[in-house]
Amino acid sequence: MYFKIWNLTQWAPLILPLLGVVLGLVGYGNNHFLPVEYEFEAWLTITLVLIFNGVIVGWTIKNLARRATMDSLTGLGNKGLFYYCLQNETQKFLKKSKSSFSLAMLDIDNFKCVNDQYGHPAGDCVLKQLAQILERNVRSTDVVVRWGGEEFAIILLDTEVEGALAFLERIREITENYDFGPEVQSQKITVSVGVVSVKELDQKLEEEDVITDVVKFADQALYQAKRTRNCVIDYAQLGLT
Ligand code: GH3
Ligand code: MG
Ligand code: MG
Repeated sequence: MYFKIWNLTQWAPLILPLLGVVLGLVGYGNNHFLPVEYEFEAWLTITLVLIFNGVIVGWTIKNLARRATMDSLTGLGNKGLFYYCLQNETQKFLKKSKSSFSLAMLDIDNFKCVNDQYGHPAGDCVLKQLAQILERNVRSTDVVVRWGGEEFAIILLDTEVEGALAFLERIREITENYDFGPEVQSQKITVSVGVVSVKELDQKLEEEDVITDVVKFADQALYQAKRTRNCVIDYAQLGLT
């Protein structure tokens, strides 16, 4: 079934123009060869085919666009969506100094051991559940993506560092106390988090600098958090600002 759909989509650039040609010919035939009393039915049929075609194409485009920005395992956004949103927020931040956001990078601790001990499907199960925890706890305006592997990124809109730290500490605690189920024998899973707030950066930076820097600084904070694990570290705590 999957193969058949894939096969069909491959031919879409040929099928759709051909349908246009067929409908054009039918319309031409209508005008010239069809008795007048059937004209209404004929045009109705063409219109219905066009509507049906429009629904299928529209639905397909919507689905493809969603998949292009989605991580297939967790259903969260992917890195493409992350950079798109980060760029938008950065532009807003540079235009209006009142707008602010924070970026958190979150990494599951010792995840390799989970895979080694319980197998990759169990590891996948943990990733999905953690994604759900994150989705359930962020505000609808925040952006949660799977950065890759066992790492997630969260863009917290209109959030300065105090708010971000309180939220991430709550996520850390929820994860630590969450029962991840029999697949991992209810083993405790913890996360380390690095966070940076754009207000901590020099506001004279260019857009490209902000994008690169927030990712780099959140990463540096995460690297520091990894020294002890199961903790949240703010970039400002590193004393590098
Ligand atoms: P640390 O606490 O330092 O982060 O250790 P770690 O074991 O979590 O980190 P490490 O980078 O050593 O290992 C990451 C592991 O994540 C290894 C890789 O197999 C696993 N992983 C990455 N993507 C997936 C995935 O999609 N599914 C599963 N099950 N595992 C994944
Ligand atoms: Mg990692
Ligand atoms: Mg890890």
